[in-house]
Amino acid sequence: MKKYLLLAACLSWGAIQAQQMQRCSTHDYQQQILIDHPEYQAVVDEGNNHAQEYAQNHPEGFTPRATVVIPVVFHVVYANATENISTTRLLEQLQVLNEDYGKYNADAGNVPNAFQSLHANTDIQFCLAHKDPSGNWTDGINRVSTTVSSFSTNDNVKFSATGGANAWPRDQYLNIWVCDLGSSLLGYAAFPGGPATRDGVVLHYRYTGKTGASAPFNKGRTATHEVGHWLGLYHIWGDDGSSCSGTDQVADTPNQASENYGCFTVGQVRTDACTANAPGIMWMNFMDYTDDACMYMFTTGQKTRMWSYLNNQRFALQSSQQCLVGIEDQTIATQINLFPSPNDGHFNLQFNGLLLNEVTITITNSMGQIVEKRYYDIIHDTQLWFDMSQQPQGVYLIDITTSSERIIKKMIKQ
Ligand SMILES: [Zn+2]
Repeated sequence: MKKYLLLAACLSWGAIQAQQMQRCSTHDYQQQILIDHPEYQAVVDEGNNHAQEYAQNHPEGFTPRATVVIPVVFHVVYANATENISTTRLLEQLQVLNEDYGKYNADAGNVPNAFQSLHANTDIQFCLAHKDPSGNWTDGINRVSTTVSSFSTNDNVKFSATGGANAWPRDQYLNIWVCDLGSSLLGYAAFPGGPATRDGVVLHYRYTGKTGASAPFNKGRTATHEVGHWLGLYHIWGDDGSSCSGTDQVADTPNQASENYGCFTVGQVRTDACTANAPGIMWMNFMDYTDDACMYMFTTGQKTRMWSYLNNQRFALQSSQQCLVGIEDQTIATQINLFPSPNDGHFNLQFNGLLLNEVTITITNSMGQIVEKRYYDIIHDTQLWFDMSQQPQGVYLIDITTSSERIIKKMIKQ
């Protein structure tokens, strides 16, 4: 009996602990930016109006012509070895972002039947930057030691003058700072259109990646959630306390009174004062506050809203080339067709009318790991066939280097 009481006490203590954690302070942070920069309100309003129009013009959801691949730089700002988290963890984090935004997360199948038709592949992917702002090669990880023992939403982590690391140009990169955010805060993000030097996402190092991260926030979903804010998403309950009048400005997410904490069983229907009937509220949405293991979807409406920002205040990112290495020879590049793309891992490279010598074709994944390498003495007006069906879904770079040229193509496996 005692054992059961102890177990119950442990479980409820665990739930209290989880609630004491502050999953995200983006809402309060946004309010502070508006106090610091009153003129920013007009930018926020413009973004929301554009998103509303966008949703009206795409009632079935927006389908982009191509998947966007956003270059990421991780600024790891550390005061000790523990905070200087491993490259493995950062690569895991990038992989989680790609899985969650590409709808190939392993728990995608947990989405309840009633919500499955709303579950979106956002057509947004991420790669580690391979060019820094000066055009030099980088692995996309900027490690900076600091004497600051702990940061907060005051943004000191975003400036080298205050012990952090300066942002890279936000038109070309998603800046993700990884640092000690104190005892309770998991992360926060800047919405689109705010001050350029403060733009990006901040993650507590303890909740970044998977290996060695702290449960129950050890599946990389803090980043998924925060990048959602960075792309213009609000919390699913509308940040209106527990009233039903607030909105996340997305039509297909059920009205929800307040945030959910902890975890619920797969398929569990939860209702509240704002959505009283089944299928209930969408507690498994990435923009709720549930534990990492219990959030696994964005909706079509959320995708449309994110794309409205990718075609508005975040438009420049669509043409960022910072993941590519080397110099792309545009003339030759147009004579090499990669099709189909996106694909299921089977694709062709067609060299139209080209004669190339000493050709090395190197395929790397979004983390920079080589997955296939081929060499040809000569390629003459030919078509090559590739089978990457055994590789995970994601973004791949096809580097075609000859004796005199270098061309890089992007391939997306879905
Ligand atoms: Zn949030």
